[in-house]
Amino acid sequence: MDEDVVAWLERWYQAHCNGDWEHRSGIRIETLDNPGWHVQIDLEGASMADKPFAQPDAGQGAAADDWMYCDVQNGVFDGYGGPRQLGAILHVFQEWCARFPSRDMPLSPEQQDLIDARESIERVRRVLGRENGPERCRADGCERLHVAHSVFCGDHHIANLQRVGALPVISVDGVRVLRRADD
Ligand SMILES: [Zn+2]
Repeated sequence: MDEDVVAWLERWYQAHCNGDWEHRSGIRIETLDNPGWHVQIDLEGASMADKPFAQPDAGQGAAADDWMYCDVQNGVFDGYGGPRQLGAILHVFQEWCARFPSRDMPLSPEQQDLIDARESIERVRRVLGRENGPERCRADGCERLHVAHSVFCGDHHIANLQRVGALPVISVDGVRVLRRADD
């Protein structure tokens, strides 16, 4: 995302304010006497609350002031860093959010597409229901039973819909729309 990180954080904050969240939760940015910065972002009620967080490398090491430490504990993002690391801390939070796009945060058009695509596939999967058979899926070599409303298992039914352009196609790693559905 190329958007300025402060503008992005403003939009993230605004997207979470719903008349309730902002009374219990918020974002705090303060200075430390180290000296440095401390950024604290409450995640309770946010989609990021249950997402895995990998700590970034602890600073670039070019100068003593470059140190940075970020972690997520008990539903709170905490970022600490040297005097010139405020932007870097916010960037860590932004990058983390970008890995788990959801409707409660600022989205790029590509992320919006991805969420739409996931939801349309999930919707079909719910309608298809469970693979109860009793016959096996009609696809060659598939060992699974068919779903109630198709002669195929869920995956093969969805693959067929994707082949004819009725459903979007998402990359295997799940982070990109390879082909949108035909309108
Ligand atoms: Zn199958």
